[in-house]
Amino acid sequence: MCPLCREHDGKRCELIEQPDGRIVCGCGLHAWPNSGALEETCRRMSLTSTRQVHDWTQSY
Ligand SMILES: [Zn+2]
Ligand SMILES: [Zn+2]
Repeated sequence: MCPLCREHDGKRCELIEQPDGRIVCGCGLHAWPNSGALEETCRRMSLTSTRQVHDWTQSY
């Protein structure tokens, strides 16, 4: 799920990888130019929510 949104009203905000490699979150609020940028964001967020990021990695 999106490491920034996480959830909207209890529903996970899933990430969608575009054909050109861009990654956008389900609501369109966040976007990353590539998976490396997303990983960087996840690493930063993991300081406060390790479980959430781990959860996303497994489902990916
Ligand atoms: Zn988002
Ligand atoms: Zn969202």
